[in-house]
Amino acid sequence: MSEKTIALVTGANKGIGYEIAAGLGRRGWSVGVGARDEQRGESAAAKLRAAGADAFCVPLDVTDDDSVSAAVRMIEERAGRLDVLVNNAGVAGGWPEQPSTIDVETVRRLVETNVIGVIRVTNAMLALLRRSAHPRIVNQSSHVASLALQTTPGVDLGGLSGAYAPTKTYLNAITIQYAKELSTSNILINGACPGYVATDLNGFSGTQTPEQGAAIAIRLASLPDDGPTGQLFDDSGVVPW
Ligand code: NAP
Repeated sequence: MSEKTIALVTGANKGIGYEIAAGLGRRGWSVGVGARDEQRGESAAAKLRAAGADAFCVPLDVTDDDSVSAAVRMIEERAGRLDVLVNNAGVAGGWPEQPSTIDVETVRRLVETNVIGVIRVTNAMLALLRRSAHPRIVNQSSHVASLALQTTPGVDLGGLSGAYAPTKTYLNAITIQYAKELSTSNILINGACPGYVATDLNGFSGTQTPEQGAAIAIRLASLPDDGPTGQLFDDSGVVPW
């Protein structure tokens, strides 16, 4: 079994996920570049390898059982275990988006990817994570998911979000439930808030670079054994649920 830390980042062919993979690669880790489109994944992995990273493409659509099962088999054959899972893949609806007029198909699509996709991938990868000496799971959340921030007068979270923000709130809620269930194991699981990052997700309107946005997930992926679990973080520290 390889001594190298092995990580998988979902939705790593572009945006924040790509920069998380790049950052983990710079640590000398072996990084699976999860991508629902194999060509896009292969080209991202090739770019990372050209920059010196040990990166390989993992075809992975988080909404597809067969695709996730194939990804598990691929990691198992390659490394026999998984040390770090970063559930980064995500989709956004419109912005701003009023709950009163939202298309329920949009809600369904976002829940399928941002919530059920994370559960599907996490549960499928758990057996491999349990074989690791220092397993970590990072769920890519958002400040807009925080009910505390959403209900604090004067906090600007960019307007109404009828679907996207609630899916990330759901993700936060399941992060807490996983942390409780896994509290007797060595698996640490936390949520990351990358900030407002210029990517395809928001038409590149964000004010931070993807590299800046990747920093908190990289930190949570590299937590020491006595690090926190079941919490939500940004670059400044704990974010209230
Ligand atoms: P992005 O550039 O649009 O990247 C999203 C990634 O997710 C892409 O690689 C995309 O693949 C992938 N993806 C979407 N659906 C997928 C599926 N069914 N299976 C596998 N991969 C899938 O957006 P980003 O800003 O980097 O977002 C990354 C994460 O950060 C998301 O979870 C997002 O909600 C979160 N986030 C972003 C911001 C921000 O300001 N940008 C703020 C807070 C949180 P394709 O290339 O094939 O579409």
